Amino acid sequence: MALYKEDKTMDKICKRCLKVKNNIDKSGFCDICMPIEMEEYARIKAFLNKHKKATMIEVKEATGIQYKVIERLIEYGGISRLEE
Ligand SMILES: [Zn+2]
Repeated sequence: MALYKEDKTMDKICKRCLKVKNNIDKSGFCDICMPIEMEEYARIKAFLNKHKKATMIEVKEATGIQYKVIERLIEYGGISRLEE
């Protein structure tokens, strides 16, 4: 039994698919998007390990991953900010 009030207006929209879901993780992704997001983070990091001076455009073109995902990875501290 939940003793705390759930905030039904916040944190119920997945950051990736932007759908309202009940099963949003603390990180803000639903259970479908979470593994995809993690897999893309891993691909971005692998690319940056080999290409340390890569720009956002190079990362996007090489990995085919959306800017939004790259920006989230920067925001959450996975990688440092890249040149545009
Ligand atoms: Zn989602």
